[in-house]
Amino acid sequence: MNNFYNHQAFIDLNPSQKEAVKNLEGPLLVLSGAGTGKTRVLTARLANLIYSNKTKPWNILAVTFTNKAAKEMRIRLEGLIGPSANSVWLGTFHSIAARILRENAEIVGLSSNYTIITPDDQVRLLKQIMLDDKIDIKKFTPKAMSNLIGKWKDKGYKPEDLKISNIDYFANGKAINVYKTYQMRLITLNSADFGDLLLHNLTIFSKHPDILNQYHSKILYFLVDEYQDTNTIQYLWLKLLADKTKNICCVGDDDQSIYGWRGAQVGNILRFEKDYSLAKVIKLEENYRSTGRILEAANSVILNNKERLGKNLKTSSKDGDKIDLISVWDGMEEAKKTSLEIENLYSAGFRHDQMAVLVRAGHQTRYFEERFVDIGIPYKVIGAKFYERMEIRDALAYLRVVQQPNDDLALERIINIPKRGLGINTTSMIHSYAKKNNISFFSASQELLMTDELRPNVKRSLLNLINQFLYWNNQNKDISHTDLALKVLEESGYIAHWQNEKSLDGEGRLENLKELINAMSGFENLSGFLEHISLVMDGDNTADAGEVSLMTLHAAKGLEFDVVFLPGWEEGLFPSQRSIDELGLAGLEEERRLAYVGITRAKQRLFITFAANRQIHGLWQGSIPSRFISELPRHILNENIEGNIGADASSYNQIDFGLSTKNASYGPGFLRAKQNGIKGINAYKKAQIDTNVLNSNIEFDNGQRVFHQKFGMGLIISSDGDKLNINFDKAGEKKVVSSFVKLIDK
Ligand code: ATP
Ligand code: MG
Repeated sequence: MNNFYNHQAFIDLNPSQKEAVKNLEGPLLVLSGAGTGKTRVLTARLANLIYSNKTKPWNILAVTFTNKAAKEMRIRLEGLIGPSANSVWLGTFHSIAARILRENAEIVGLSSNYTIITPDDQVRLLKQIMLDDKIDIKKFTPKAMSNLIGKWKDKGYKPEDLKISNIDYFANGKAINVYKTYQMRLITLNSADFGDLLLHNLTIFSKHPDILNQYHSKILYFLVDEYQDTNTIQYLWLKLLADKTKNICCVGDDDQSIYGWRGAQVGNILRFEKDYSLAKVIKLEENYRSTGRILEAANSVILNNKERLGKNLKTSSKDGDKIDLISVWDGMEEAKKTSLEIENLYSAGFRHDQMAVLVRAGHQTRYFEERFVDIGIPYKVIGAKFYERMEIRDALAYLRVVQQPNDDLALERIINIPKRGLGINTTSMIHSYAKKNNISFFSASQELLMTDELRPNVKRSLLNLINQFLYWNNQNKDISHTDLALKVLEESGYIAHWQNEKSLDGEGRLENLKELINAMSGFENLSGFLEHISLVMDGDNTADAGEVSLMTLHAAKGLEFDVVFLPGWEEGLFPSQRSIDELGLAGLEEERRLAYVGITRAKQRLFITFAANRQIHGLWQGSIPSRFISELPRHILNENIEGNIGADASSYNQIDFGLSTKNASYGPGFLRAKQNGIKGINAYKKAQIDTNVLNSNIEFDNGQRVFHQKFGMGLIISSDGDKLNINFDKAGEKKVVSSFVKLIDK
């Protein structure tokens, strides 16, 4: 290939970016703020590796944070190096680990057609195990157990690595045992959960240095985007693989670390120079994405965080429009005003697919969706749980059993959908037979069919189903996977099941099933499709067709839009009260980084809205503006505040801290919001005052009674540093930060 340095994609870069792209050997860290071109540099560097003939595409591994980002990078790369872009190992940590696991599955006791189970399968399996173990699942929920296991896996802990004393509070010390049984069950089911993908990789590498060696000679160059959000196990995995060549380039931004709650360790990025002694560090300072005012807003908000390396972004772009700050009565009005702005901007020439509404919590999208449907604004929900819809899950369960008859969880899901007389009595009978003989649900069914245990009509029905699966399984080799899917859904009676459902609902579901088959056509075979589904599960493979995007702030990482709407900037919602309760100041700072991520997604226009009233768990509550609003410089705001709140320049801060009831004619909603808000803020302030007192060396002991602002009275069961496990009288068991509880004298 020609020299990349003559390519326009290289010429357009600034000197620091060029330096990063030229530096192909050895460890390199690009640590820079949002929109400075990190992802662009990573892609160009990848192209340069190929142009310079340093290596072949299949010897390069590039890790992105989402499947969507991987897809985008592949498209850009294709533009630079042509079809050989397809040979690069490009994907998320999980998708690459899934591939490595498939290549070596037998080492951990799986076969290469293993299934990746979904989070709700995970919970169902844990529920069975916990019930068998006589654990009170009301007190210790399977969901909580699944989170706990997820956390262990994120840290790289297998059951044998855990000590009972660490977690004796959960399920009376039975948690490790549940984890152990769960792992064994997964192997029997020829399945792996999400966390297993990397965990099994580590086991393979540590048990078989020869296999690790093979990958050392297969993968010679590493590129990692969004490095600030890697967790411990991803870090260990990468380090093992890259240790040989140390040709590793990571890019990231400590201010955009937003996955602390999932175990991300921003420390990984800070440790890079220690891990790789010869590491070169390049900083990029120029932001190419946003207008001056948007950048000023971002800089000004993030400045309030203490835990950061500290950097300021510059731009040579124009100041641009002011940031619109809009107050609304409630979620419905918020959606209305937003849609109005969208229509105006659209008339002014902005494209729908260049606009996005970024929410803090998934449930916020509902009003927007309803409104957009009403007035016909095309939109798509990214991370919309297409694959989590009931009919899609059912269909996938059928296909999973066709692919792998031993997929118990899938078979149990659809054994009686549509109804075929195989109810709970039959399934529990098969279940216990399977368990006793340590065989799969499918095999147990086959064996039971050879006995007289089952009633004749049950037997007939089960025999029919099992034979159908055997037949479809056979057909898998002979007909295309899309034809097969259609056949399965028709012959099983699943399509008829929804056709008979005369409601609109049924029609919508049939549409979705069609869409599913469409989605399958993009894959070579059933197994490729199923693997993709379990990794994606978020429907982000829908094509961009001029639609407004609706998604969470977390999902928006790395993306950019001309126009960004940030709704719901209210205390409790954003910053999320839960983060603050669980993690204290660290939680608040992570929320603020999320605000920074949100603001920096916008290129030209930014709208921030907050409502005076919110419906929370069905109840209307007054709300007060987010503290992040008071962190925005006022001179860059265009305030559209109901009830003249914006008229008095200082009234924001007064409302924010709830200390003034001064003048200004507030709208009725706002007044109520303010009263409630003052209560809320006072409670918060009180907690802070208490915190100051408590911080002065109060030690907590197990068995002490304490009071927590949100959860009320409770008893300390155990502690781990500043985290306490408390059994609250009303709220049950919670993990809280010690500085947020007050000791109660007995
Ligand atoms: P984030 O932190 O949000 O992931 P990033 O640092 O990865 O951002 P990119 O997405 O790579 O930034 O780049 C931001 C925008 O700036 C993109 O539209 C990109 O094409 C553009 N850009 C980057 N570098 C340059 C440059 N030298 N000249 C012109 N535009 C650039
Ligand atoms: Mg990026």
